[in-house]
Amino acid sequence: MSSYIKDLIAEVKAKNPAEPEFHQAVEEVAESLSLVFEKHPEYQAAKILERIIEPERVITFRVPWVDEQGEVNINKGYRIEMNSAIGPYKGGLRFHPSVNLGILKFLAFEQVFKNSLTTLPMGGGKGGSDFDPKGKSDLKIMRFCQAFMSELYRHIGPNTDVPAGDIGVGGREIGYLFGQYKKLRNEFTGVLTGKGLNWGGSLIRPEATGYGAVYFAAEMLSTKRETLEGKTCLVSGSGNVAQYTVEKLISLGAKVVTLSDSNGYVYDEEGINNEKLNFVMELKNVRRGRIKEYAEKYKNAVYTTIDPKADSNPLWNHKAQCAFPSATQNEINGKDAQNLIKNGVYVVSEGANMPTTLDGVKLFLDKKILYGPGKAANAGGVAVSGLEMTQNSMRLPWNREEVDNRLQMIMKDIHTTCVHMADRFGTPGNYVNGANIGGFLKVADAMMDQGVV
Ligand code: NAP
Repeated sequence: MSSYIKDLIAEVKAKNPAEPEFHQAVEEVAESLSLVFEKHPEYQAAKILERIIEPERVITFRVPWVDEQGEVNINKGYRIEMNSAIGPYKGGLRFHPSVNLGILKFLAFEQVFKNSLTTLPMGGGKGGSDFDPKGKSDLKIMRFCQAFMSELYRHIGPNTDVPAGDIGVGGREIGYLFGQYKKLRNEFTGVLTGKGLNWGGSLIRPEATGYGAVYFAAEMLSTKRETLEGKTCLVSGSGNVAQYTVEKLISLGAKVVTLSDSNGYVYDEEGINNEKLNFVMELKNVRRGRIKEYAEKYKNAVYTTIDPKADSNPLWNHKAQCAFPSATQNEINGKDAQNLIKNGVYVVSEGANMPTTLDGVKLFLDKKILYGPGKAANAGGVAVSGLEMTQNSMRLPWNREEVDNRLQMIMKDIHTTCVHMADRFGTPGNYVNGANIGGFLKVADAMMDQGVV
């Protein structure tokens, strides 16, 4: 690592204390970019990376709301408008008690590179709240979403900043948020993506992140003339990304043996078929229950509680060839990465954002497995959000095949960019460098063109 990058990382840590996830995301990207700065000192001279690291705008606000019992509740609300060099800020909203400034800054930073990789004109942003939707009534969720939007509406717009969903924000929440925006602004615009099909949403948007992560894995395997057919796959999470990852894997003939939530995971040696997946979708999206119920319904499956304090997660300790982490950040640590490799996993396609710690990433790269980092592998979601914005602007919806074909093409192009950039900068097969460099160059060139703003 060059002294410039070492100093830069030290400065980021000093200037942004107590934001370990943000430090981690910056460190990974900065290491890759040292290869670029050797050949292109002009980016270093213009302090492009320093400028990308500092958000263009950070908005924090109070979200007061009253529940059915008349109790007053107060949550924190955030929107990080990270970079608008290549388009309006774009990125999801996360509602989860763990949400804080550092986590949203890491997500917004990753989003800048991811959105650039999609080839669509979208800048990077992220937002959310420490509100916990788990177990709350629909009325509470609606009241919270309305209170959240009562402040956020001032800062967003179809040409300024277009939020979408993320953990804890699905179709229901986007509906309540959109309704409140429309009421306050008195205009019907594509200000959010992930909307319902009857009111401006795009076909394939709910499926896009999971399908995209599987398309990316298929592309990586094709470099070895292999397919997903017959492969055993570990999937974590059981939310939006996990569900559609499983759906696409089943359709391509792979066998998925795990799913999880924050309490535990199920291992189903026979494999999760479409009927079992429908059960999970109803369990998670309608009844909003826990994954433990899967093992109560399907007796051959084994449920294991996950201890967040343990040194490893047993979900990653089963024989398989592929892994699709689809829950949350840092869910694969160094020990988990070792277990995956020991059990025969040689394809990791990240549906979640930054699910692997830096030592885990290093091991995957050292072992030269097919490792697709989140900013490339899970870009399908935001790509179809971009397609939703296009359809909203044209006021013309595309059919399922049209959107799915475009999604497949975009994932193929992202894969090609990663391979090409990794080769060009002397690290063939390194998708981390490929994604970081490919995402960076487009944004960096736009910033050079636009001056110091
Ligand atoms: P989701 O529908 O809310 O599902 C999240 C899943 O992950 C749930 O099963 C949840 O379990 C589990 N989970 C959340 N936090 C956890 C934690 N701290 N420990 C263990 N499990 C946890 O969210 P999603 O949209 O699928 O998002 C999953 C991941 O994909 C996130 O990293 C997100 O940033 C990333 N991503 C999403 C999109 C998208 O389009 N939605 C796009 C790109 C990337 P519980 O129910 O127990 O909380």
